[in-house]
Amino acid sequence: MTAFRTLDQAEVKGKRVLVRVDLNVPMENGRVTDATRIERVLPTIQEIADKGGKVILLAHFGRPKGRDPKESLKPVAEAVSKHLDKPVAFVDDCIGEAAAQTVRSLKDGDVLLLENTRFHAGEEKNDPAFVQELAKLGDLYVNDAFSAAHRAHASTEGLARVLPAYAGRAMQAELDALTKGLEAPKRPLVAIVGGAKVSTKIDLLENLVTRVDALVIGGGMANTFVHATGLGIGKSLAEKDLAATAMRIIDKAREANCAIILPVDGVCAYEFKAGAHNHTYGIDAIPEDQMILDVGSQSVERISAAINDAATLVWNGPLGAFEITPFDQGTVAAARHAAQRTKEGKLVSVAGGGDTVAALNHAGVADDFTYVSTAGGAFLEWLEGKSLPGVEALRA
Ligand code: AMP
Repeated sequence: MTAFRTLDQAEVKGKRVLVRVDLNVPMENGRVTDATRIERVLPTIQEIADKGGKVILLAHFGRPKGRDPKESLKPVAEAVSKHLDKPVAFVDDCIGEAAAQTVRSLKDGDVLLLENTRFHAGEEKNDPAFVQELAKLGDLYVNDAFSAAHRAHASTEGLARVLPAYAGRAMQAELDALTKGLEAPKRPLVAIVGGAKVSTKIDLLENLVTRVDALVIGGGMANTFVHATGLGIGKSLAEKDLAATAMRIIDKAREANCAIILPVDGVCAYEFKAGAHNHTYGIDAIPEDQMILDVGSQSVERISAAINDAATLVWNGPLGAFEITPFDQGTVAAARHAAQRTKEGKLVSVAGGGDTVAALNHAGVADDFTYVSTAGGAFLEWLEGKSLPGVEALRA
């Protein structure tokens, strides 16, 4: 990767390295209940420590309004220490004399976690004075928190402007995947977008139709498109007031030579309920008193054919109400097909955002995709074509 400065270019030995990580882990009664985010940043911490750098971790936790003991990172320091299998010091402020003193006492290879950056209003305001206070504690800055990179905060963007800045390994993997997925993809490039609503994904759809060769639309949002094209959708979830928006997206796709693939059949039921009695109808024959809860088998065949045509696949959002059986079948079948093509070396598959990770886990294939991003907001903003401040600041 040449577009971003990475740890490969950083001389960390003997240096104080401020490392922004995502430690916004789920907790219950002071215990970390899912350590995925900790595990993701271990390689970066380990590498800097092994190379003789002094690792000073910066992170936010929750959305505190000022200092709040309930949102302290102290218990997280213990969890990081356990996973890293070495001591992790903790200071109850991320700036000031106590932090400075502990930083001075660090030896090469030591690891320190500073308290929640959001205890200071200057963090979210990206206040230059707060940035300077943080910058005093380090010689270099490494950002390993892609999930926070859509925010221009002091610890995600400001620091990169005042210290030599590099992408950590988790950030680098994410940027690599995103570059392969949309910036410089192998074509044909196909996107699958599903989920509940068009309204939350208008920017995303408008960006994708100008970038991809084919766009598969599934899930509840497909109903809005089907309705916009003049077909009946019964009691299906839809945003009928967005018919004009849907048509604009279809027109834009036509202009950009992007094929739009809509469902040709739907699995329908009278109620949104697991195990509900259901039947598959052609998309031009949806009964007035039923709702579409999943794409039908003919649609799955078309989606699988689109995946076969693709060299690269970008996926966001389930194709149906995947949380309730049997309406998970379309999503599961398409996900397994994409995973199989990826395993065969025929497809680069990048997925992420919202419920997508849960849907791929449900299908049992999250590990078989080329890359699955767990960064909700940042991943979606990237799909919308927005530039992410924390990423821009790392460009070489
Ligand atoms: P999103 O957060 O926008 O990705 O939407 C995910 C949600 O969309 C999931 O909770 C699905 O159950 C829901 N969903 C997908 N397809 C349908 C559908 N046909 N009818 C109702 N809900 C759906």
